[in-house]
Amino acid sequence: MKRFFLYLIIFILIFFIMPVLFTKRKDSVETNTSNDSSIEEQNLQTNSQENTNQDGNNQANEQNNSNNGQNSNEQVSKENSHKIKLLHHDTNEVEEVDLEEYIVHVVSAEMPVDFEPEALKAQAIVARTYTMYKTKNPKHDNADICDDSACCQAWISKEKRFERWEEDKAQANWDKISKCVNDTKGKIITYNNEPINAFFHANSGGTTEIPGEVWGGSNLPYLQVVTTAGEEGYTQYSSEVALKYDELLSKLKEKYSDISIDFNNNDDIKILEYTESGRVKTIKFGNHNLSGVETRTLLGLKSTNFEFEKKDGTITFKVIGYGHGVGMSQTGADSLAKEGKNAEEIVKHFYKDVEISSI
Ligand SMILES: [Zn+2]
Repeated sequence: MKRFFLYLIIFILIFFIMPVLFTKRKDSVETNTSNDSSIEEQNLQTNSQENTNQDGNNQANEQNNSNNGQNSNEQVSKENSHKIKLLHHDTNEVEEVDLEEYIVHVVSAEMPVDFEPEALKAQAIVARTYTMYKTKNPKHDNADICDDSACCQAWISKEKRFERWEEDKAQANWDKISKCVNDTKGKIITYNNEPINAFFHANSGGTTEIPGEVWGGSNLPYLQVVTTAGEEGYTQYSSEVALKYDELLSKLKEKYSDISIDFNNNDDIKILEYTESGRVKTIKFGNHNLSGVETRTLLGLKSTNFEFEKKDGTITFKVIGYGHGVGMSQTGADSLAKEGKNAEEIVKHFYKDVEISSI
């Protein structure tokens, strides 16, 4: 009996106390994995699709906040140690994580692992840039960034990531992403020596958009309309939303309760204006003119690059691209990588007159 207790104590020491003492930080990273919510589930499934779209929406908010206060002394010390404070939105816990390790988790949440290594590297540079931008323009009181893609940037725990990959490929996938992040270690995109607001989205449909057309306000010199070949080869390129006339009306009534449309009059639903990139800027629905952006939101379209067709009581919206269209297109990045472009060339294709700098 005495011996049993002795073994028990040794067992507890070896298996519970010693690992906690010696791997405290790593442990806390991995125990947080159980916190992943359905939002992250969504991120993963839609990955470079809807995820980026949500991201863009909040980057718009953040743009509005970009002049908010920042503590430069604190920034310097954070940057020197390359640690960031990550807020886990579902537990409200703030965890200090190594920047490079954090980026591995972000890239694995944001981009499909089967994308080309140079596309994954471009995504790593973009995610790192976005993170550094956030540390300078914080949205949260006690953290640099949170793991909610609808607020800051997607992040997934290693455990959850592994669960969603095929078991025999999980380690190789993780290693692939880790290598791509490590190959770009410390690299960020700068304009006038400052990290840029690195918007990105799933699929541009061949042409990117400028931010003023999506969120209003001023444009940024490094975000221009850019064309990319090969976007049509991805599933995110085209989609359709078919709505019965009364379904369309009820969706529009969520915002415009007095809306009325004469469906027999072909001029009563009409695209009035396009943006420079060819997306819908203004569309007439009966007695209201809506922006392409609010139409996209109200009708659940994947982008503002759409046309429509009316037939037998149904209106079908045919949509090109996925996401707001600003900054780097993820599938465009993969397409350029397939053409032989490297990560820096990909970054400089989507962001104009920028430099790749080290933190
Ligand atoms: Zn956040």
